[in-house]
Amino acid sequence: MYSMSEHHEPIVSREVFETAGRLLEQHSKEKGISKGDKKYQNRYCFSGKIICGECGNTFKRRTHQGYIAWCCKTHIKDKNRCPIKFIRDDELKAAFVTMINKLIFAHELILKPYAAAVGGTDKNTGLHRIKELQTLLMQNTEHKETLTKLMAQGYIDQVLFNEEKNRLISQAKQYHAEIKALQRAVSGKVTFADEALFLLHFTEKSAMLYEFDDELFEKTISRISVYSRHEIAFELKCGLILKERI
Ligand SMILES: [Zn+2]
Repeated sequence: MYSMSEHHEPIVSREVFETAGRLLEQHSKEKGISKGDKKYQNRYCFSGKIICGECGNTFKRRTHQGYIAWCCKTHIKDKNRCPIKFIRDDELKAAFVTMINKLIFAHELILKPYAAAVGGTDKNTGLHRIKELQTLLMQNTEHKETLTKLMAQGYIDQVLFNEEKNRLISQAKQYHAEIKALQRAVSGKVTFADEALFLLHFTEKSAMLYEFDDELFEKTISRISVYSRHEIAFELKCGLILKERI
């Protein structure tokens, strides 16, 4: 991808480039992957992940003369129902590499603010409120116990006891419902925030990619939308949608 000729100023220094290679090897060793390993070979990582921007159907892998292509299933059945043409496997892979390299190059501009935005105050506010509600629930239980004691010792009558007990029960239900809703919201945000942080840490450390990486694709991409043979969009697991031209 990058010229390493002695006569030109290299875009990435030889030293950095070699370090990147070593890091990648180290990473592969840690993950128990060697280049000949099946894990590293094409596992059709695009299967089920390419979505037609025209009709919404998934793409199917096909072998054309001399290359692999992906084609909208509707288009295969009837090209009048969906005009989207096939896209080459190697072009999709190159687009992914370009997209990741842009993120590596501009992680300070793109990923740092994004990770802060999805991982920041909302999540903390949610967690804070959950703690508050848990304290309120504990107090609610204590009130119920006190109420029962007061009733048993004859300090309050049955009518007041029932009224107060019902009020506390319905209040506890509300607290539980709010906690459940917050936990759902917070866990959704944690996922986006976690994925954004993973990508940020990766791009901070990684040298430019020079070949397609199955594992990285699976770790970072939820799906690819194809709008035409020349325009696709990567939907990242962290919630970002990035368009690439082919
Ligand atoms: Zn289609």
